[in-house]
Amino acid sequence: MNLNDKLAKNYYQPENTAHIVVAGNAQQSALKILLNACPAGLYRMNETGEITFDPNGCLECGTCRIVCHDEAFSLWRYPAAGCGVTFRFG
Ligand code: SF4
Repeated sequence: MNLNDKLAKNYYQPENTAHIVVAGNAQQSALKILLNACPAGLYRMNETGEITFDPNGCLECGTCRIVCHDEAFSLWRYPAAGCGVTFRFG
């Protein structure tokens, strides 16, 4: 079973608003490390080289916050009760 198959076993309940928001002034060069650091692969580079982020599917591991510190985010919190990831461990 590969990583994507394992991630697909999890259940994710989205919120109406994002629980993690990348700051508008965050350095793109600093965010690039998250392309490989986020275990869910939620940070991606688009065709213009800009780092994009979709919080849906977040594993709530905190890696992005530790790697890029709070300055890179205008909001970083855990999802509200009843929302977010439910691990099913394959
Ligand atoms: S908390 Fe973990 S899974 Fe969620 S966006 Fe950050 S690095 Fe990715």
